[in-house]
Amino acid sequence: MKRLLPELTKELYTDKESMMPTDKGTKMRGTKGRLNYEVTYRNKEAQENSASSCTKNPGHEGFIFAENFSIESLPESFRTPKMYELCRCLINLTCMIEVFATSKNRSASDNFKDQLGARIGSGSVYIPLKYTHKGGHCPCPECKDPKNAGREFYEVYVTTAHHVVFDNYEARRTYVKLHFDSEDITNSTVTLPGYRIVNYNAEADRTILSCITHDIRIVEKIQKLRDSAKEFEEYFCSHPLETNPSYNLTVIVGHPHRWPKTISFGSCIQVQSINSDESNKGTVWTEYKYNAPTCPGSSGALVWIYGKKRVGYRDSDITTHTHCGSEDGMNKSGLGLEFKTP
Ligand SMILES: [Zn+2]
Ligand SMILES: [Zn+2]
Repeated sequence: MKRLLPELTKELYTDKESMMPTDKGTKMRGTKGRLNYEVTYRNKEAQENSASSCTKNPGHEGFIFAENFSIESLPESFRTPKMYELCRCLINLTCMIEVFATSKNRSASDNFKDQLGARIGSGSVYIPLKYTHKGGHCPCPECKDPKNAGREFYEVYVTTAHHVVFDNYEARRTYVKLHFDSEDITNSTVTLPGYRIVNYNAEADRTILSCITHDIRIVEKIQKLRDSAKEFEEYFCSHPLETNPSYNLTVIVGHPHRWPKTISFGSCIQVQSINSDESNKGTVWTEYKYNAPTCPGSSGALVWIYGKKRVGYRDSDITTHTHCGSEDGMNKSGLGLEFKTP
């Protein structure tokens, strides 16, 4: 596959690195003890063809490439036009994350320090914010050139796992790829430079990364998709397809093995609820275990669980559970905040 980006190890920006936000700490412990993170590496996939030697999911049944996804791909009980449309939204909101550096501030137990080449994970895009020249000079690499000064720019927020993008040092050496849906990446793929960490929570294993674009069409598309995804999620909460509480579906969209986007389906096997100060406000922190297939490269992917309404960062977007790895033969999300269900 043709790669368009140069190998990057140095800083993309000329402005001073902004302050790291403070950890949003949940004041609780997730159960990360035996967790295997699911990142992969550009060089590893290129040189060892690790997808074909994958021990986690030999054969890779259950991964459906986005370009082949149709209503027939849905598990039979969930095969409705609305569910298909929701999955299309989740597909279009998913991105691949390439991180070209590893921060010195990581703990040695991350085992990321000696890896060569970009670290690959997944994420999902949501809030786009607009700035004009009045709001400051665009910090992106293109705008280093004075002739580009004063352009309008947008920060696009992306959720991923904290272990994929750890701090501002890594954020500024990250590229976010939208619409990498087929091998022919010149077709539709858009690449945005990462800029800063907006917010992170180490215990929940979640990072909100901001990246930059000047293209209003990208921003408008994201707005539309996130509004639709929210509507569909609300619809399924108020019009359940089945009232049996064991009726469940987990959907994961990501970039396992640095492939073009895939979607996979499974069931939620276990949910752990963790009481916190927030419990009184009708919300609860949860983490999920599920059997929807994931592989190295899936870390940070959005985890969508049928019938759950998540409390998002800001205005109840569906962003709060991200895939963070596998443990005891099951796949597992980081902690997310959701509305309590009766
Ligand atoms: Zn695999
Ligand atoms: Zn710029």
